[in-house]
Amino acid sequence: MRAAVVTAFNQPIEVQERPIPTPGAGQVLVKLESCGLCHTDIHAARGDWPVKPSLPFVPGHEGVGRIEMFGPGVASRRLGERVALAWLGSACGACRYCVSGRETLCESQQNTGFSIDGAFADYAVADARFAVPVPDAVSALDAAPLTCAGVTTYAAVKAARVVPAERVAVFGIGGLGHLAVQYARLVGAEVIAVDVVDEKLRMASELGADHTVNAARHDPVAAIRALGGADVAIVLSVAPAVFAQSFASLNRGGRLVLVSLPADGELTLPVFDTVLKGISVIGSIVGTREDLVEVFRLHALARTTVIAQTRRLEDVEKSMADVLHGTVPARLVFDLRADDARQPAASGLGHAVG
Ligand code: ZN
Ligand code: ZN
Repeated sequence: MRAAVVTAFNQPIEVQERPIPTPGAGQVLVKLESCGLCHTDIHAARGDWPVKPSLPFVPGHEGVGRIEMFGPGVASRRLGERVALAWLGSACGACRYCVSGRETLCESQQNTGFSIDGAFADYAVADARFAVPVPDAVSALDAAPLTCAGVTTYAAVKAARVVPAERVAVFGIGGLGHLAVQYARLVGAEVIAVDVVDEKLRMASELGADHTVNAARHDPVAAIRALGGADVAIVLSVAPAVFAQSFASLNRGGRLVLVSLPADGELTLPVFDTVLKGISVIGSIVGTREDLVEVFRLHALARTTVIAQTRRLEDVEKSMADVLHGTVPARLVFDLRADDARQPAASGLGHAVG
């Protein structure tokens, strides 16, 4: 099978021929149809973070495919079932976080495409309990971005406990941001999209953002204040200036939700303002399996639109460069199906179903 393998940090990723892995106890073998490219894959491949994956490894944690084989002891799944392989590759199921519905905080978790091989390949093995079912009404090309970008922003909106008519500012419109705008709209918020690229702001408007602010031309804090201030600011950008801007744009009682992971990020908070204004600072990491089930269900109900371009796995290196250069409107998805099964690349804002 083909697999895109990171053999050294800061070296080009190689697409290699590898043997198809064998599922171990409790695992399933998944024949992949698609996998999205997340910024985290690029950080992992470059060894950007203090925690590094052990080499060599296969990135990819937005994998979607069908179960082709069971390992010993798997009784709960069926062959041919469509599943998604997300960042949360497994968790212990027994710790205080797992048993209280916070499995994303499990200290014994494995992460797909990081601590275990991911889905930039024709096949991957996965913990059967953590392969999340994908409804038939959600296409492989839509399901991939929902598996990380979707569930992460969905969980961030939930973590902020947004209520109708609150004002939500989304800092950074791209793979995550275009979905964050839609989830904020779904819970009834007035949505402000902030980015430095007009094309991305146009996309945010088409997806339901009520206001847009180009932070390259306007001071986003002044612009958001002029709109009445933000009750919630969701930070999806890694630009250092954005952290202070998002805090300063908050109203009293506001919630700052941190999602993006810059290679080295520090946030300095004015204690006086934080206390006096009753500001909450929330770190939100991906989402649970149940969050992903809900994300897929909302998409099957046509409540969300995924904007993505397809690429070939052989173009993984160029695809990462395009993401870093900001030339990608939203998400890139590797179409891993045989040539004759591929659909034309998604374009425009049509809701792709089937
Ligand atoms: Zn991701
Ligand atoms: Zn646990």
